[in-house]
Amino acid sequence: MELTSLPIAIIGAGPVGLAAAAQVLSRGLTPLVFEAGPSAGAAMRRWGHVRMFSPWKYDVDAEGAAILERHGWVRPDGETFPTGRELVEQYLEPLASTRELAPHIRYDSRVTSVARHEHDLMKDATRETAPFLVRVDGAAGEQDVLAQAVIDASGTTERPGVLGGSGLPAIGERSAAGRIAYGIPDVLGSQRSRYQGRRVLVVGSGHSALNALLDLAQLVETDGRTHIIWAIRRPALAQTLGGARNDQLAERGRLGARVRTLLDTNRLQLVRAFRIARITSTVAGLVVSDGAQDLPPVDEIIAATGFRPDWSILGEVRLDLDPAVESPRALAPLIDPNVHSCGTVRPHGAEELKHPDANLFAIGMKSYGRAPTFLLLTGYEQARSVVSAIAGDWDAARRVELVLPETGACSLDRDEAPTVACCGSAPAPLEVLTATPVAVRVGAGCCG
Ligand SMILES: Cc1cc2nc3c(=O)[nH]c(=O)nc-3n(C[C@H](O)[C@H](O)[C@H](O)COP(=O)(O)OP(=O)(O)OC[C@H]3O[C@@H](n4cnc5c(N)ncnc54)[C@H](O)[C@@H]3O)c2cc1C
Repeated sequence: MELTSLPIAIIGAGPVGLAAAAQVLSRGLTPLVFEAGPSAGAAMRRWGHVRMFSPWKYDVDAEGAAILERHGWVRPDGETFPTGRELVEQYLEPLASTRELAPHIRYDSRVTSVARHEHDLMKDATRETAPFLVRVDGAAGEQDVLAQAVIDASGTTERPGVLGGSGLPAIGERSAAGRIAYGIPDVLGSQRSRYQGRRVLVVGSGHSALNALLDLAQLVETDGRTHIIWAIRRPALAQTLGGARNDQLAERGRLGARVRTLLDTNRLQLVRAFRIARITSTVAGLVVSDGAQDLPPVDEIIAATGFRPDWSILGEVRLDLDPAVESPRALAPLIDPNVHSCGTVRPHGAEELKHPDANLFAIGMKSYGRAPTFLLLTGYEQARSVVSAIAGDWDAARRVELVLPETGACSLDRDEAPTVACCGSAPAPLEVLTATPVAVRVGAGCCG
């Protein structure tokens, strides 16, 4: 079988999966996108009510935009900030509906596993020339599809982090699940009645937590019975509310400043250095404890504790993952918040994303594993680079064509202060070659 006659399978029709499909088409190759949801951007729709912290000019892939512009698409004002839903409706869905992409996307099609055809994980011989076998669960039942390469862009939002301070669910967390929302519930919209007038505990110190707090604070304005407790694992707030005016993603910097105002005006109760061990349902409400101290009872908990990648669908192919970050091993030092706490991460591509099984890549949010700093621009560059590599153009794959905005945001959803101050010791000089090519330093002075 001629490998090159097979499609390039892409898992997920989110922003990065669609960018990969557009790149594949631009190389004259054939993409085949499997999307578990009923339409493009299904995961983003889950947080569709949240306003993004990066403006339109940073949210759109160049190749995707080029396809859309051929159909008369008018680019939204680059300086404005879309909600997740607006990005789906004004960019992802139109792109997925173009005559270029539409024939190559299968909706309601969940990839359940990937292997190498007639080669289990152990088998070496002829492995490199075996196509990938992609198992898909869709309307027609289970089906195996062969592909010359696999790009997993399935994101992480289906697997939120837990409340337990040791990485395991807290004791009682599972049985309290009916009163715990993971992520950013639509507090001011469809979920309003769930939170208005209630005592709500928000857990987490990333941007999702800040968004949830600001939404809840609006409920306090309309119904004074609403009470907010905010628990963070870190001992100090500085990291959490950092960024602010230093953040070139101004919307993101502003979030921290607005939450600071809530604290200064006593509109929320902050509990620091709190690692949840147990959640108990009592007649007074849910009592959350760290083993030594109980928080006041609450009616609802919002767990804004980040996301984790699910690598199980790639369990039968050869991966090289960092054991802590759960990202590709070579990428981990660039994004690990233990050593690099800034939102700015050195752009990277196929070289850092490759695995022992050639032509297999995970890109997008999933590629960052548990690291919380992923930006769409990074994902679009990953898509360009890995598709170049799959097409055999390693020169293009290694050429980094991205300059990221300075974020100044040392406020990551990591539970502890980093061992090295933000920007203190990035593992390598953060040097990027632009298309021009001009060497640009990214990340320097990100806290300054
Ligand atoms: C609340 C929030 C706000 C954010 N704001 C910004 C921002 O302002 N700027 C920024 O740059 N980044 C932002 N991000 C980070 C990131 O850019 C987004 O999460 C983005 O959606 C990631 O894109 P993706 O394509 O990697 O994954 P996703 O958007 O999660 O898409 C993955 C797709 O894969 C599908 N899928 C999952 N599993 C399977 C499977 N097994 N088979 C088939 N399909 C599957 C899903 O249904 C989904 O459609 C934000 C993230 C969150 C959670």
